[in-house]
Amino acid sequence: MALKPDSYVVLNDGHKMPVLGFGTYAPDTYTKEQAGEAAKVAIEVGYRHIDCAFIYGNEVQVGQAIRSKIADGTVKRKDIFYTGKLWSTNHTPERVRPALENSLKDLQLDYMDLFLIHSPVEFKPGDDPFPKDESGKLIFHNTDIRDTWKALEACKDAGLVRSIGVSNFNHRQLERILTMPGLKYKPVCNQVECHIFLNQSKLLKFCKSHDIALVGYSVLGSSRVKEWIDQNSPQVLEDPVLNAVAKKLKRSPAQVAMRYLLQRGIVVLAKSFTPERIKLNFQVFDFQLSDEDMKALDGINKNLRYLSIDSWKEHPKYPYHDEF
Ligand code: NDP
Repeated sequence: MALKPDSYVVLNDGHKMPVLGFGTYAPDTYTKEQAGEAAKVAIEVGYRHIDCAFIYGNEVQVGQAIRSKIADGTVKRKDIFYTGKLWSTNHTPERVRPALENSLKDLQLDYMDLFLIHSPVEFKPGDDPFPKDESGKLIFHNTDIRDTWKALEACKDAGLVRSIGVSNFNHRQLERILTMPGLKYKPVCNQVECHIFLNQSKLLKFCKSHDIALVGYSVLGSSRVKEWIDQNSPQVLEDPVLNAVAKKLKRSPAQVAMRYLLQRGIVVLAKSFTPERIKLNFQVFDFQLSDEDMKALDGINKNLRYLSIDSWKEHPKYPYHDEF
């Protein structure tokens, strides 16, 4: 079926997720108010899927943006698909629901459409989002992810969230949930880094075989935050093959980078706080990449992960030691 601005994927629990989502994470060089302003522009332009998280520190502003667009009649609550994420200090079962309720309070929303375990890597439970020991090392923790998942299932049953899923999980970590005795709800999605340089073909195949949606982040190559990302890594939007396809189709490299993933059945998140780009990035439904273009773009995969976060490597649940 042809992709349209209102296209969605039907999740394995029956809810619908719009195929294009607006990313709200930005480095500290931006204010949280800018995230709210950008979210308003995004909704005006047509985005109905908003990706956010507790750790982005902007749920107050993003929630306010959504509510203002409901109040002015642009959308209804049911038209918006809001994703939030459980931070890594809240994996212990008793912290899950309060964390979700805390986000809902900041958002001033009654429910989230989707709540994800942000990462399999867990830190010491508590109020400090990055708890460190005296030597400055992160203090890890290791709850059985099945216990966290059970607490998420209870949040869904309580009506606080429509769908539940995970982020940054490898296929073995997904299997750990899928093979859980008494599993009530499968994760609806796995949100992971995905772009022309990390096309995730193996994880995508695995997810498809289990009816789990793959949601891609950093599809434009990320904001390249110094703290997290190797500044010498090649840039997605500068790739010559991508640029050649874009030039041929009279489209921007960003539009082609997004369309490439959409045509493979991946749900795409894209962040911009620049109104003109927010608008242009939504214009990915009125052109198509040929089989030949898709093949050329498949060919530039280099399994390059921007967000590998070396300081988390020693955690027993660090996801990227596995191939996928
Ligand atoms: P993206 O790959 O979406 O790239 C964002 C960067 O690209 C910004 O610097 C933006 O600049 C720039 N940009 C946007 N559009 C264009 C364009 N048309 N031409 C040129 N440059 C452009 O990065 P993110 O890493 O932010 O990923 C998107 C979202 O995914 C996040 O915001 C977040 O919601 C989610 N995410 C989830 C993670 C997880 O662990 N689950 C991890 C990382 C991201 P500008 O704003 O100035 O326009």
